Amino acid sequence: MRIYDDIQLDYCDVLLRPKRSTLASRSEVIVEREYTFKWCPRSLTATGIVAANMATTGTFEIAKEMQKLRLMSALHKHYTAQELLQFLKDNAQAFGNNDLLFVSSGVSDADYEKLKQVMASKLINNICVDVANGYSPYLINYIRKIRKDFPQALIMAGNVVTGDMCEDLILNGADIVKVGIGPGSVCTTRKLTGVGRPQFSTVIECADAAHGVGGMICADGGCTVPGDVCKSLCAGADFVMLGGLLAGHTESGGEMCTKSFQTGEVEMIDDKTCAMRIEEKQYKKFYGMSSEYAQDKHYGGMKKYRASEGKVVEIPFRGPIEHTLLAILGGIRSCMTYIGAKRLKDMPKCATFYRVNRQLNTIFGND
Ligand code: 5GP
Repeated sequence: MRIYDDIQLDYCDVLLRPKRSTLASRSEVIVEREYTFKWCPRSLTATGIVAANMATTGTFEIAKEMQKLRLMSALHKHYTAQELLQFLKDNAQAFGNNDLLFVSSGVSDADYEKLKQVMASKLINNICVDVANGYSPYLINYIRKIRKDFPQALIMAGNVVTGDMCEDLILNGADIVKVGIGPGSVCTTRKLTGVGRPQFSTVIECADAAHGVGGMICADGGCTVPGDVCKSLCAGADFVMLGGLLAGHTESGGEMCTKSFQTGEVEMIDDKTCAMRIEEKQYKKFYGMSSEYAQDKHYGGMKKYRASEGKVVEIPFRGPIEHTLLAILGGIRSCMTYIGAKRLKDMPKCATFYRVNRQLNTIFGND
């Protein structure tokens, strides 16, 4: 039996140390970065925030809003090839190209056929290969196959949490490795299987390993507040993938529902009667992609040998996503001025972390 004794940290276990800097204002920092890749010959200018390829966040509607701010989106794989192609045509007209989008794929034969069809259109160059357990031999084989078939493609693949596997995936054809097992807001993998690794430590190790062989990483899951996105970028993530932070908005998928609840205040109905005031609040469903709910909805039921590794939550409706995206970008800009990083790429170089016991003061709630 072997136990790794090194301390493993989550985003909430650290805070960034502010530093004296020459940056006078947030407007002096540049949040866009030009990315060049190991395999894909095309470069890309973007802020590396990626909407997760979940049915609720990898939507066409969110993708449009992300692109307006030069943020990226991994479209979910439950759109049909026809729906994707139609959207990609319209989107290329609206934004000039589809460079900020990924088409998602699993590793099955059916996934491959659909991917081939979409890639043949030449409307999109970026692929996100997603399996829950990136340690499976199927993933490496699939990456090799698609690198051979689409040599010019930008390939992101995962998920893994260790440096050795990041190197393997990159050396076999991935440009970006998606890292994170178990940190997601609607993920129950850790609860069910006991497998996982705290995300901050995952990012540090995986970024170092990936960069060492000319690749990049996308930190996937576990960001609960914009500050976590900043910490992730500072820990070395080239891209950060977000699910929960983007859920519950107008542009997010998931059913809306209205709930009534007693406010605790008494209201007069007429001269003689009074009652507890009832208020209605809107909620939107957000669910893990391997939850039983998702299996029912997208795969026509849960297979017997599969376990649900995700849950369903109802989150208070948050309105248009633009204000959330601007808050995330504002947080990154402000973080960069605090630590003296002029460019997004400089963040890890400028960052020093404190290990902390508590990151937020929650006396008046968690908001
Ligand atoms: P979040 O930003 O919500 O913390 O994490 C989003 C990430 O959670 C997704 O990109 C994906 O990697 C992961 N995820 C989504 N659905 C599930 C699920 O049902 N089970 C597990 N284990 N992970 C999920």
